Amino acid sequence: MYAMAQAKYGRVLLKISGEGLCAPGKGGIDGASLLRLAEEIKLVVDLGVQVGVVVGGGNIVRGSVIAKTAPIEETTGHYMGMLATVINALAVQDTLESLGVATRVQSALPVQNVCENFIRRRAIRHMEKGRVVIFAGGTGNPYVTTDTGAALRAAEVRVDALLKATKVDGVYTSDPVLDPAARRLDHLTYNQVIDQRLGIMDLSAVDLCQRSGIPIIVLSLKESGNMRDVVLGKGRATLIDAGK
Ligand code: UDP
Repeated sequence: MYAMAQAKYGRVLLKISGEGLCAPGKGGIDGASLLRLAEEIKLVVDLGVQVGVVVGGGNIVRGSVIAKTAPIEETTGHYMGMLATVINALAVQDTLESLGVATRVQSALPVQNVCENFIRRRAIRHMEKGRVVIFAGGTGNPYVTTDTGAALRAAEVRVDALLKATKVDGVYTSDPVLDPAARRLDHLTYNQVIDQRLGIMDLSAVDLCQRSGIPIIVLSLKESGNMRDVVLGKGRATLIDAGK
C-alpha cells in the first residue's frame, strides 16, 4: 500500500472523454469500459489523493455533429451534449460506488433531481472528505467542449494537475498508430502546445491551465496502474507545463 506522502500531486482532476466509456469504435455506454475506468480511479483514491473527474459526452451527442445530421439547431445540440455528460456522470458514479468509492455528481447545468449543482466550495469540501466529485455539464454554456470545462474546474477547485486521458500514453512526434518511428515526448511547454497547434486539448483549455499554472498530464488508462504511477511521479505520460 502506498502512503499519501509518496504522491506527487495531492489533488488531481481527470478528464475522460465519452469515448472512454464505450467499446472501441462504438457509441453508448459499455459496462466493461466503465469498470476498467473506475478501477483505475480507485487506485488513485486509495493513495489518499483527492480526485475530481470531468466526463465528456461524445459517445452520445456532440452538438456540432448532430446539428449537421438532424433538423436540430446547433445551440440545442450543444445543450444535448451537455445533458449527455450528465448521463455519463451518473454511469461513472454508480460504477465507482459499486467498488466502494464515495462520490458526488455536480452539474454545471442544473438537473437537481439526479445530482447537485456545481458549487465550488462544496466540491472542494467533498474532495477533502475523500469523495470523488464527478463534474458534469461541461461549462454549462454551448459552443465549447468539456476540455474547456475541465480546465475551468481544475482552476476553480485548485488541483495540482489536470490528467487528460487519451488513447495513447502521451504526446508523440507523429501518430504512433501510423508511424512506427513515432517517439513519445516526456515534456512539452504550454507555448509549444499552443504555437504548434498540437491538438491535445482545446487551445482555450491549454491557455487557462497556463494562466492558472496547472500542469497538464497526457496519459492513457489502458495499462492498469499507469495513472496511479503518474500521480506518484512515475508512469508513462507527457507533462505539459511552463518549463524552466
Ligand atoms: N458541450 C457544450 N458545452 C460545454 C461542454 C460540452 O456545449 O461546456 C457540448 C458540445 O456539443 C460537445 C458535447 O457537449 O460536443 C460533448 O462534449 P465533448 O465533445 O467535450 O465530449 P468528449 O469529446 O470529451 O467526449
